[in-house]
Amino acid sequence: MDCLVIGAGVSGLSCAVRLLEAGHSVKLVSESFSPDTVSDTAAAIWYPFLVQPVEKTDRWGVDTYRELMRIMHESPEAGISMRLGREYLRKVVPSPGWSSEITHFRLLDPSEVAKGYVHGWEFESPIIEMPLYLPWLMRLVRELGGIIETATVASLGDIEADVIVNCTGMGARELCDDERLEPIRGQVIYLKQDPGIGQFDQQPDTLTYTIPRSDVTVLGGTAQVGDWNLEISEADEENILAKCEELWPELDRANIVGRAVGLRPSRYEVRLEKEVLGGQTIIHNYGHGGAGVTLSWGCADEVARLVEELGQS
Ligand SMILES: Cc1cc2nc3c(=O)[nH]c(=O)nc-3n(C[C@H](O)[C@H](O)[C@H](O)COP(=O)(O)OP(=O)(O)OC[C@H]3O[C@@H](n4cnc5c(N)ncnc54)[C@H](O)[C@@H]3O)c2cc1C
Repeated sequence: MDCLVIGAGVSGLSCAVRLLEAGHSVKLVSESFSPDTVSDTAAAIWYPFLVQPVEKTDRWGVDTYRELMRIMHESPEAGISMRLGREYLRKVVPSPGWSSEITHFRLLDPSEVAKGYVHGWEFESPIIEMPLYLPWLMRLVRELGGIIETATVASLGDIEADVIVNCTGMGARELCDDERLEPIRGQVIYLKQDPGIGQFDQQPDTLTYTIPRSDVTVLGGTAQVGDWNLEISEADEENILAKCEELWPELDRANIVGRAVGLRPSRYEVRLEKEVLGGQTIIHNYGHGGAGVTLSWGCADEVARLVEELGQS
């Protein structure tokens, strides 16, 4: 089938790869490309966060975890590595549904739980270095025969293709007139210092993380719902540093080398479904909140399945 994928973030590029692998012809158009997408600001660790519905995101997440591990082994240049992390919680909650599906997960002994917290777990996850990973995905799309063009799509009705795959992230708010899609602002700091182990408090109100990449550690964060501000806020930076220093007292502010802000495309649930508009078939794949990288391959597989079904009908 002739597929037109809109969007060159992690969602669009992963879908383009899967559709090409399935033998479809793919053109990908996008207004912006790496390093200018939200996906570029992703920290990025595999960890389902700020995304719904859990019954689907757990499955998409586990499928993605496995695929990221495969890529790590087969394509070291993609920038993926496995690291240990510890999540701390202020109340005792059941372990996440995906906990039995990953390579390492254990509850922390009370003596290992950081001060101020009562519960926690240790997990092993892929860390995806987006400055390497997104260009790698783009190269893969081209190698598999995909065509990549720069264009802004003003209306889904203007395009002719057997199927349109809509991976426009926050752009879908205007393109699909979808007001249930709203930004959750995230600010991060890049630090040239390795904490050894990543440390996390993933509750939106107290969000704190130290994510070690090979080049820098990404410190976060903020989760400001409905905030469109793309400027760096000094108050947010101070707040992030203070929270990270609580978990990592050795953090040295002299090692700060950069900062970034991005708007997570958040929705009450990921929109992954088929729609027929004026005779044109569209598969939407947007609204991945704080977990677009974490869900990318699971969602791309589902998009490819929906396209396959179209071919059979
Ligand atoms: C600070 C921060 C930290 C994060 N950390 C993590 C993490 O650790 N792990 C994780 O899994 N996720 C993380 N996320 C979330 C993740 O970044 C997003 O869920 C993900 O990037 C969404 O990807 P996407 O491809 O759907 O959207 P985007 O990356 O926004 O891509 C959308 C694409 O569509 C294009 N587009 C939009 N509208 C149009 C149009 N009308 N015409 C043509 N093109 C259009 C854009 O130019 C862009 O190329 C983080 C986000 C932030 C902000």
